Amino acid sequence: IINPQVYYYYVAPGNNSKLIIQTMQKRKNWQESANQLLHFQWNMNDKNFKYLTLSQSQIQIVNHLPNHRELTMKCNLIRNLKYFCQANKRYVWDITPLSFIIDLYSSENDLNRVLKEFISFYEQFKPSNSKKNQLNYSSKPISQYVHPKMHHSLLDDEDNYIWILKPNEFNRGRGIQFFRTIEELKQLLKNFNKGISEYQFSQGQIKSSSFVIQKYIQRPLLLDGRKFDIRVWVLVTHQFEIYIFNQGYARLSSEMFDLNKLDAFIHLTNNAVQKHSQNYGFFELGNQISYSELDYYTNGEFTKTVLPKIKSIIVFSWMAIQNTFKKCKYSFEIFGYDFMLDEQLKPWLIEINTNPCLEESSPLLQELIPKMIDDAFKIVIDPLFSKVTEPTGWDHLLQL
Ligand code: ADP
Ligand code: MG
Ligand code: MG
Ligand code: MG
Repeated sequence: IINPQVYYYYVAPGNNSKLIIQTMQKRKNWQESANQLLHFQWNMNDKNFKYLTLSQSQIQIVNHLPNHRELTMKCNLIRNLKYFCQANKRYVWDITPLSFIIDLYSSENDLNRVLKEFISFYEQFKPSNSKKNQLNYSSKPISQYVHPKMHHSLLDDEDNYIWILKPNEFNRGRGIQFFRTIEELKQLLKNFNKGISEYQFSQGQIKSSSFVIQKYIQRPLLLDGRKFDIRVWVLVTHQFEIYIFNQGYARLSSEMFDLNKLDAFIHLTNNAVQKHSQNYGFFELGNQISYSELDYYTNGEFTKTVLPKIKSIIVFSWMAIQNTFKKCKYSFEIFGYDFMLDEQLKPWLIEINTNPCLEESSPLLQELIPKMIDDAFKIVIDPLFSKVTEPTGWDHLLQL
């Protein structure tokens, strides 16, 4: 019989599990254990969900929401956003860059069939066709001439359309490729099918059967000439309380932005990619800067106008999948949202990550990540077990 005063937790190894253990060690009445009935499990195996959520007799909490893959798998995210936007008369290409889902299994690898939707779009709006309609090209902003799906930030002044191909099941920049023509795209997909990837940092072969083709943002906001994206932490509870952490960080590239060189060090801002660059940490520690430094670069616009838009996209993403979620007992999840800003400071949703990176790879992250985790536990763990509620750095957005 378990002493009701003692609670047991288990943290699966990986992704800075040491920090999770340290954060739990600060809490009275909690003990680490692998073979007790567990009250809290971090990064447990998904298949235990059923057992946990059915448990009536005691509180058992886990750090993943069932069905989180509706948002955290790249293809699902795009599909769910598209459906929800259609139903609500919104343009999905206003939230996330124009995207197409490619499923190689569904069609016995007949590439022309799989790519039908994309090819017909591509043919209609390929550079040579769109240019015909662009009179007085230089005297008016490009946005007045392009198709509404092709927001001006997705293009540049050159006659140059770049697309990005992302395998559904990978992260940390692995397997991501760029292309300009249908022929290049087909070649990339054939290579993937054979398990061949030119990705330079991966161990072994990469295979994927589904992909997202996404319009590349060709006019991103640059900081000192370099590209960046923004990592935003979002906490969601099983009762659909949605919180955003009041601090986050931007991840910069190590090299000057250049559309003529489609090189991972220039175009992929993942820390897992950038840390291999010769220039890593040269411009800023860990290639990372804080929200307040983003405010410095943008004259305060980041906090004033960008963050409110980011918050509404976060809420929108949860509304999009609300109906696919069964409410369940005692789970929560910390998500890592990736956003990019374009030249006009418009935020674009790039993807939503489960298990966001917790490695404290810079002084900034050494400061932010332990607080972010401890504060999350103050919201989702402490009130359940010790009825304590403390103020945190998590801002409540809404309950769905
Ligand atoms: P991963 O799961 O590998 O991190 P992402 O979708 O976040 O996949 O893409 C990795 C990086 O590639 C992003 O952090 C960003 O720097 C870049 N990227 C992704 N999509 C786009 C896009 N549509 N336009 C411009 N850059 C992009
Ligand atoms: Mg990812
Ligand atoms: Mg700094
Ligand atoms: Mg990412």
